[in-house]
Amino acid sequence: MRHLLAKLPKVDKVLQEDSIQKWQHKLDTSYIKETIQNEIDQIRQGILEGELTDESIANYDCILENINKSLENRVASSLKPVINATGTVLHTNLGRALLSQEVINSIIELGPSYSNLEYDLEAGKRGSRYVHLKDVLKQITGAEDALVVNNNAAAVLLMLSALTDGKEVLISRGELVEIGGAFRIPEVITRGGAILHEVGATNKTHLKDYAEGINEETGALLRVHTSNYHLVGFTEKVDDRELVDLAHENGLLALNDLGSGLFLDMQRFGLPYEPTVQEAIDAGFDVVTFSGDKLLGGPQAGIIVGKKALLDKMRSHPLTRALRTDKVTLMALEVTMRQYLNPELALEKIPVLQMISQSREELDQKARELSDRIQTIGKQWSVEVIVGESQIGGGSFPGATLPTSLVQIAHHSISAAQIEMYLRSLAKPIIARVHQDAVQFDVRTLRNDDIDQIVEALVEIE
Ligand SMILES: *Cc1c(COP(=O)(O)O)cnc(C)c1O
Repeated sequence: MRHLLAKLPKVDKVLQEDSIQKWQHKLDTSYIKETIQNEIDQIRQGILEGELTDESIANYDCILENINKSLENRVASSLKPVINATGTVLHTNLGRALLSQEVINSIIELGPSYSNLEYDLEAGKRGSRYVHLKDVLKQITGAEDALVVNNNAAAVLLMLSALTDGKEVLISRGELVEIGGAFRIPEVITRGGAILHEVGATNKTHLKDYAEGINEETGALLRVHTSNYHLVGFTEKVDDRELVDLAHENGLLALNDLGSGLFLDMQRFGLPYEPTVQEAIDAGFDVVTFSGDKLLGGPQAGIIVGKKALLDKMRSHPLTRALRTDKVTLMALEVTMRQYLNPELALEKIPVLQMISQSREELDQKARELSDRIQTIGKQWSVEVIVGESQIGGGSFPGATLPTSLVQIAHHSISAAQIEMYLRSLAKPIIARVHQDAVQFDVRTLRNDDIDQIVEALVEIE
């Protein structure tokens, strides 16, 4: 043990190595020293605890290589691109919606430049960051006014805080949704300073339940779209228009959290009916909130549309400043929203819509290309193209799936679990599905050169 310890290098000696010196232009010397020290300490610890006994452990070149790896990790971003081969379009853990090329181009132009973010170019004085998206959102949704905040959770919180503080908010027991990450509608209502007043039953809520619940303390009727779960069987919910009319007849606000906002009907792509933002505005809701990065396929944002007087109230609420979006988000959202001005263009350009609307032929062709190329790698692989199902994800279209093509691979001597782990450990990780003892790639979510990269990764496996 002692002779191993004696072989461990001194920090200053390692620091002088050319391969270490080259990090000087990216890392301060103190970070480099600390990394070297940590690496050597770890080995010393291992030796003292009797875990590391092999001679090679003190090999100078090995130690140097490990230190270089640690330094590289220190410089490289922890947040990095991955290949999504799961087929789940709005994979929450993998960053939800991808941005379109047009959005990227606009960010590249805006990033290193000043902008008219809060400057009125016509008047030559201070303007508002909220004007840029207003007109396009009004045009698409038919609403009087529009406002954008950090995400839809923030939009709901702001809506309730600004409009229903101290009042009762009536909501159906069937709509007390948990969105995930501890975001539950009942708690948001309470946080916003309102009093939660549940009506109806979990499976059935009638108009008379709302009507009977209304009292002097009531401020609003709230509809929360149950975007992430499905009630089936003996169920009933009140029609949007009836709910809105009841609210207005009683001088109350009709509010709607739509969750995953949708501008285009997706039924023609084989998905079930989901209400669109335009329908919610048409039904007469005073304020409607939805996400920018679920089905709309833009950046993370919360979009609020509705009556101007109410949105003005929200704009002047102190929370608005705390929940505001930054210029990169606003730019990305504006470009995405403008793509909706031509729905056919939106389907072609916005990655989320493009992935959902891919035809069976396109999917099959992509799967054949991938499978053919894996086949040419060698006999160690067995490959087949099979029919499968993709989920939409992001808590939207619960239970619904789209038929897809899967490339299913198995190796003659390496388990699917090991292959999956290897793919996950790459510089650009590949996230695949594992089914029984096969790895599956759902081609629906594969982009541009993903196929090349998957093939390159598999070639490395003997
Ligand atoms: C997703 C969702 C939210 C939260 O939206 P984020 O953009 O994720 O903050 C709120 N309400 C409903 C009904 C949702 O589906």
